[in-house]
Amino acid sequence: MKIISSISDMQQTALALKQEGKRIAFVPTMGFLHDGHASLLREGRRHGDVLVLSIFVNPIQFGPTEDLERYPRNLEGDCAIARASGVDIVFTPTAAGMYPAGFQTSIRVRELALPLCGASRPGHFDGVATVVAKLFNICQPYLALFGTKDFQQLAIIRRMVTDLAQPVEIVGMPIVREADGLAMSSRNAYLSPAERQSALCLSRAIRTVRERYTAGERDAATLLDAARELILAEPAATIDYLELRDAATLETAEIVSDTTLLALAVRIGATRLIDNTLLGDKPQAAP
Ligand code: AMP
Repeated sequence: MKIISSISDMQQTALALKQEGKRIAFVPTMGFLHDGHASLLREGRRHGDVLVLSIFVNPIQFGPTEDLERYPRNLEGDCAIARASGVDIVFTPTAAGMYPAGFQTSIRVRELALPLCGASRPGHFDGVATVVAKLFNICQPYLALFGTKDFQQLAIIRRMVTDLAQPVEIVGMPIVREADGLAMSSRNAYLSPAERQSALCLSRAIRTVRERYTAGERDAATLLDAARELILAEPAATIDYLELRDAATLETAEIVSDTTLLALAVRIGATRLIDNTLLGDKPQAAP
């Protein structure tokens, strides 16, 4: 497994591989890898000839009051997981390399980036779309894998790839959860043991809404009330958003169906966690 931090080395390597007829599968991450990331890597390994993992905590997708400085990092641990998952190249650019003096280009996907995380994190998805487009240009993948844990991000990347005719196939992968239902996230490392217990209210809310939906409830307000009550019973929890939206357009859903997305962002103490489910999805083992 090679580790490359120079942008030009990575791009030259990728272009040379392409010339040899090799196909690159790509998994972009911010590191501090867990089984959710590993599931993307394992699936990536099944595609393509060369598997590239990028680790880059992207400053332009963090707001001024967000956790850029304290975002967890562990390159050694990440490399162990990468090696075990069959990664060929770990790309670790620096912020100065990605955003040199004079950088002033940005990609904005409009409507899809307005609600949900886009409303509570202004500019976040511009930062995401811009870095992913740049990583695609550097790593030259024919296929890239993203988690549905970040459902809105995946929708935005798909839109960008279509709108800009980027020659990359986008694969969305299911949410990987802990045994008790908590969606895996690098930010779970911030949680104290008590907060870790409180954080179960997100997956519990998802389970409750799924149960009510399966039992025949189709009124969005009723479903959201049930979820809200459950979350607010947790003293450490404050709701950032809790919404039912059409999975394709992300427009608000009044009457729900199999193509409705339940999406939520909840703060547990100082830690903001997100989770979601598509109501028509088959139930996962957890939650
Ligand atoms: P991040 O390092 O948080 O930027 O995540 C990198 C990629 O891993 C994104 O495509 C995420 O959606 C995906 N990912 C993060 N957590 C999970 C999870 N629990 N299950 C599946 N994919 C995930």
